[in-house]
Amino acid sequence: MPETHDKLLTTAKLVLKIAIPYPLRRSFDYLPPAGVDPTRLRPGVRLQVPFGKLNTIRTGYLLGISEFVSGDNIELKQAISVLDDEPLISSEDFAILIWASRYYHHPLGEVFSSAFPVLLRQGRTATLEKERLLCLTEAGKGSTAELRAPKRSQLLQTLKEREAGFSLAELNALGWDWRPIARVLIDKGFACYQERQVLMPTQKPTSIIHPHPLNPAQQNAVDSVLEKLGSYQAFLLEGVTGSGKTEVYLRLVEQVLARGRQAMILVPEINLTPQLEERFRARFAAPLAVFHSRLDDNARCRAWLAMQRGEAAVLLGTRSAVFTPLAKPGLIILDEEHDTSFKQQDGFRFSARDLAIMRARQCHIPIMLGSATPSLESLANALRGRYSLLSLPERTGVAVHPTFRIVDIRSQRLNEGLSPVLIAQIGETLARGGQALLFINRRGFAPTLICHACGWVAECKRCDSRLVIHSVERRLRCHHCGHEQPFLRDCPNCQTADLRPLGLGTERVELALAKLFPKARTLRMDRDSTRRKGSLEGMLEQIQAGEVDILLGTQMLAKGHHFPNVTLVGILDVDGGLFSLDFRAGERTAQLIVQVAGRAGREERPGLVLLQTRQPEHPLLRKLIREGYGSFAAAALQERREGELPPYSHQALWRADANDVESPALLLTRLVELSIHQTEVLALGPVPAPMPRQAGRFRQQLLLQCNQRKPLHELVEHLIRQLPGLPEAKRVRWSVDIDPMDFY
Ligand code: ADP
Ligand code: ZN
Ligand code: ZN
Repeated sequence: MPETHDKLLTTAKLVLKIAIPYPLRRSFDYLPPAGVDPTRLRPGVRLQVPFGKLNTIRTGYLLGISEFVSGDNIELKQAISVLDDEPLISSEDFAILIWASRYYHHPLGEVFSSAFPVLLRQGRTATLEKERLLCLTEAGKGSTAELRAPKRSQLLQTLKEREAGFSLAELNALGWDWRPIARVLIDKGFACYQERQVLMPTQKPTSIIHPHPLNPAQQNAVDSVLEKLGSYQAFLLEGVTGSGKTEVYLRLVEQVLARGRQAMILVPEINLTPQLEERFRARFAAPLAVFHSRLDDNARCRAWLAMQRGEAAVLLGTRSAVFTPLAKPGLIILDEEHDTSFKQQDGFRFSARDLAIMRARQCHIPIMLGSATPSLESLANALRGRYSLLSLPERTGVAVHPTFRIVDIRSQRLNEGLSPVLIAQIGETLARGGQALLFINRRGFAPTLICHACGWVAECKRCDSRLVIHSVERRLRCHHCGHEQPFLRDCPNCQTADLRPLGLGTERVELALAKLFPKARTLRMDRDSTRRKGSLEGMLEQIQAGEVDILLGTQMLAKGHHFPNVTLVGILDVDGGLFSLDFRAGERTAQLIVQVAGRAGREERPGLVLLQTRQPEHPLLRKLIREGYGSFAAAALQERREGELPPYSHQALWRADANDVESPALLLTRLVELSIHQTEVLALGPVPAPMPRQAGRFRQQLLLQCNQRKPLHELVEHLIRQLPGLPEAKRVRWSVDIDPMDFY
């Protein structure tokens, strides 16, 4: 130990309380680094500290300082260095992280760590480097495509799309090696690198071109929010796809920018952002920061710092962007608020929607939640008067609502899941030159491989699940643990060579369509076909350019894309969702149907939506189709109220898993016993998880439910305190999920 250390140990009176990302639910005490006056350090600054037996260097976050109690005979370690002169997060945001750690019962160090981009978590100094952009020179702008050099033409064409140029991160997202091509263009004098001016404009934006005047409902929505700028108010903007919600966002952001403030726009998934990003860039001269998981660490760090410094005015990001500091907060917009991807499903299980509400409240700014199919939670908040409800009842322009038709498939002969009615409609649509969109909730070729001789089914050895057939790569895959193996020829049970696929996946329907409509250009869009970087963007372009006749895919299709030429939508199977055990299944199915249907008939073509089902009389389905999402939601809320389910009660889900069958249930049973005193909280379980065995581990869960938050949270806190002392906890991995969205 260096001399200074011993000296400090005897003379220092103050210790630093530091949050360090570590599963323990406590802070850690350190002596200040040599020569640092602890009273000058503000909460939230990052420090480097030695941690654990090996003294590995970690980044910690200062929570506060306290008196050194000399009675403690623990030898305190000394922090190595202070990384920030001033905290990178505001005192409001600091308070939110403390709140979030308590509310979600998650270790403070991990909560703080989630709020920072990876590079800053690793201890990088917070300097904002200038961004290098590749753009065209005057000569480049005038140059024509060189047909013999397709890559060169492609890059030229891309660069022509935006005068300000493209960042290296954006170019990397193209998915091919653009660097050598860029070098050629630079050598020819067609392109050059420039450094981006990153300064927020101080003057009012000039000459914004509004493509159309707002309709009265849009105007009302904009005015309502403008009235509340500078104070907290949550708004729920309800409007079907194409009703002009994005236009409302754009107008609001414009006004926020004109007042010299920043706007944060959160979207569920990154598939949504390419189009949205272009719309924002096209509208505003103000610097736009983008933050999502497809960007590299450098780009994310830059976006975060640009907002933190006030050098960018608009942030467009996904779930984890909700923590981005705002130098001059003005407005938060959260689009597709019903989308469950706003809820983090592992580690720190926060809801970005609920945190965004908290941030707006703390920063005294309005927040707008938008959706065509608002979550029942948000609708209930609107009914209670906590959120102000704004509606955009009509589609803008001349677009009309699609017509729904239920197709009873009980007594029909299906061709690979396609009913004769649907096949006929696809044929007609193609004949008229329209686009058809088919939705299937499952990727791969088929969800099951079965032996026709003995009934044997290919199952995952590590999970209670079946292996999915992927015909393109000729492999069997488990969608739950990642296990995969080559195709089988003979049944391992009876050795007969009669293994057949059972059930439908996107790949199987794709093949069937190729046989039925050999001339049609079919495009499959799912997680498998879009895995390669840039492939999704390429597909979206193909669709926009009218190079696709039949589009088929999974959920990805339901999310926000504009497919203006689609006039027919086929939903191959709505039943799966209706009969799940999850009490939110009905809500999810309804949202999915409305969202998928929303892709049809935008602009001047009316759309037709065919719903294939074996339950044509299902009350939920009929209500939704006859009366629309609003009536469905009202009925569903009534059911929730009668069943005392969220949003009329609150839940915490305890998950436990172990290598052996017994331990998880033993631990959870112990928790139930420890809950007996709290009579207001209902303890349901333990029960096996919906997938009782996953990746070789046995899983159980316990649901705690209460109609008030306080007793529920007190109980969770109580149990977490007891857990480290429980012998049953030794072999079990557990987590607690507040406001769970999924009972997986
Ligand atoms: P949403 O976000 O609800 O799907 P958008 O804002 O994208 O809706 O609007 C759908 C289409 O209607 C867009 O092409 C948009 O330019 C256009 N649009 C929006 N508002 C108006 C308006 N007031 N008048 C005419 N067209 C509009
Ligand atoms: Zn067999
Ligand atoms: Zn598995």
